[in-house]
Amino acid sequence: MRAEIISIGTELLMGEIVDTNTPYLASQLSLLGIDLYFTSAVGDNADRLAGVFQRAWQRSDLILTTGGLGPTQDDITREAIAALLGEKLEVNPELKRRIEEFFARRGLEMPQSNIRQATLIPSAVAIPNPQGTAPGWWVEKEGRIIVAMPGPPGEMQFMWQNEVFPRLQKRTGAIILSRMLKTFGLSEAKVDELLSDLTSSSNPTLATYAKLDGIYLRIAAKAERPEQAREMIARREAEVRAILGDAVWGVDDETQEGVVGKLLTTKGLSLAVAESFTGGFLTNILASAPESQRYFKGGLIATTDEAKVSLGLDAGLVSGKASAEVAKAMAALARSKLGADIGIGIEGESAAEAATGMVPGTVYIAIDSEQIKIHQVQSYSGRLYQMRRRAAYYALFDLMKLLKSIS
Ligand code: AMP
Ligand code: MG
Repeated sequence: MRAEIISIGTELLMGEIVDTNTPYLASQLSLLGIDLYFTSAVGDNADRLAGVFQRAWQRSDLILTTGGLGPTQDDITREAIAALLGEKLEVNPELKRRIEEFFARRGLEMPQSNIRQATLIPSAVAIPNPQGTAPGWWVEKEGRIIVAMPGPPGEMQFMWQNEVFPRLQKRTGAIILSRMLKTFGLSEAKVDELLSDLTSSSNPTLATYAKLDGIYLRIAAKAERPEQAREMIARREAEVRAILGDAVWGVDDETQEGVVGKLLTTKGLSLAVAESFTGGFLTNILASAPESQRYFKGGLIATTDEAKVSLGLDAGLVSGKASAEVAKAMAALARSKLGADIGIGIEGESAAEAATGMVPGTVYIAIDSEQIKIHQVQSYSGRLYQMRRRAAYYALFDLMKLLKSIS
């Protein structure tokens, strides 16, 4: 099956909105084993949209579109498909009723313009959209399929996962299962190099994604039965783990803060942090974990030397350069002030020039507890924004390793 993606909306051509729908769908198609040959973006213009649709109709078996299904006059995807196929739009009473209900639940009257979202052509069936008012369209004609989905990424992804992906999977006749392995501490290039023997395989596939909290690896296997796919994934996962070892910290929807939280809970330990360089980001991550109040006591955030002194740090110590000593003192301070078993301190060189670009920076991370006192120096370059976030995840990863090592 040859697929093509068309993203529709003038805002995409104005640099106002970044097209995230196309890369999302592209990665999903590869999961399905469907070849993607073309992608394009087109504005809300009837002539140009007609041109893009005609070309797609000639060269592709599956055309996925996002956008242009809104209620306003500039949303013309439905009209474009109707024109392409020479079919007439008609209001579908059932769809009209559903949209009226959507508004009624919110105590609103349906604006007349929304009636356009209740229209269909004879070759189209509506795809439910519980997240919004615009149903999608599934169109089949002359051996080709057009799937029109709404533009807002949340609505589109929900519709894709719950309605479109399963239907396409039935067509391709294969079961595709996948599992995400999450790593930290290795660069994407390093992971790629270490796994080069495995990444060239076409089944199961192995793809890497760089995320803030590490490099993710998706293993996807295609088989006739789910057990076969699961077995293929398990075998590949064992191979990857043998190569990457402790760098793998989680799978699928696990988060670093969630893993750390579980470890703390099972060991009956509590945690507190003191941050300067990361400006509260570590506190924020930890506090966002479910049930974190069971083990996370809180965070102290001080950015100026005076603030650090007022929290109780030694004036002589903080007035010097950012150092491992300050990080250690902050870890101990968080622990004692907030009454936790473990304290983390993060201190960084916030060189003024770091704000302007890519300069190497040094971040000091200290962990203080009854059993273990460690401090680490991480030195890396990058934009300040990324460095702050990476430093927080480094601290979490260090803590995770530490917690795994103590009984
Ligand atoms: P629509 O009314 O269906 O044309 O889309 C409404 C909104 O969805 C747009 O204003 C964007 O905020 C968002 N959107 C549309 N297309 C995309 C896209 N390709 N990637 C990301 N967001 C999009
Ligand atoms: Mg639009």
